[in-house]
Amino acid sequence: MKIGFIGLGHMGAPMALNLLRAGHELCVFDLVANNVENVLNSGAGQVKRAASVQELVSNGVEVIITMLPAAPHVKSVYLGPTGILASPIKGVICIDSSTIDPSTAREVAIAVHEKDGLMLDAPVSGGTGGAVAGTLTFMVGGTQSLFEQMKPLFAQMGKNIVYCGGSGNGQVAKVANNMLLGISMIATAEAMSLGVSLGMDPKTLAGIINTSSGRCWSSDTYNPYPGVIETAPANRGYTGGFGADLMLKDLGLATEAAKLSKQPVPLGGLAEQIYRTFSSQGHGGLDFSAIIKLLNPNL
Ligand code: NAD
Repeated sequence: MKIGFIGLGHMGAPMALNLLRAGHELCVFDLVANNVENVLNSGAGQVKRAASVQELVSNGVEVIITMLPAAPHVKSVYLGPTGILASPIKGVICIDSSTIDPSTAREVAIAVHEKDGLMLDAPVSGGTGGAVAGTLTFMVGGTQSLFEQMKPLFAQMGKNIVYCGGSGNGQVAKVANNMLLGISMIATAEAMSLGVSLGMDPKTLAGIINTSSGRCWSSDTYNPYPGVIETAPANRGYTGGFGADLMLKDLGLATEAAKLSKQPVPLGGLAEQIYRTFSSQGHGGLDFSAIIKLLNPNL
């Protein structure tokens, strides 16, 4: 298949490499020349550089995948004066895997359909490790027939490919899950800090939580207290993993989406404020489990 890939950052580059290894022909574009070079020099498959979004579209690509930082970038790449929709895209399948708000995803899908193109929103979870290993989870919104058609392509970059419903619903699933993750990480940090401050050994306390009703992923797989889970970022100075600023971005998407549907999300709103405080203190680059430092600055 001839695929255009726009956005070759931490996630996009390894996803593009997996498509090249699967035998697809790629035409790639990124604003950062170095990110393009890394993919061109990887030695994986047939890949060509486009000088602009429009050059990429006019290259006869059947599918365009975008993996961009946030909604303004997605809007500019699709709807901007030199964006994807400035060229004819009849029959072209557009897949946006960036994490953005559901209403922008729906707005872009409508614009693509108006130009006789096809569109899926397909945000991912699984982080850079999952992108490299090809084990991402894809949450996909759009028509079910297009989802079925593109499922084999997603399977070359991911392991769990889930149909979520109409346009924008992939983003809905992603924001709901990540809001819960942000809340549960803060709650785990709070419970662990309370127990340790009252004299418990952190590993013993985590062991009890993890076999009791307080158990959750933030506690049993990614515990924020150092010395509890060997592979967790808490054991390597909160480096790597999923950045606190990315969590802040996702919590912002959840609270914005909640405003539109008039759905109260009191804990999501509080979690956003807590991550914003942490970020404003200069810690946005740490893993999101480092939020425990706000309660326990000595950790
Ligand atoms: P990134 O910043 O590393 O990569 C984004 C890339 O897009 C960069 O190379 C940038 O140069 C390029 N770009 C920006 N504007 C552009 C434009 N107008 N035209 C062409 N290229 C442009 O981000 P990332 O970590 O790869 O994340 C991408 C998306 O995936 C984000 O929406 C993020 O929230 C989501 N996500 C990230 C992770 C993660 O662990 N990093 C996990 C799940 C989802």
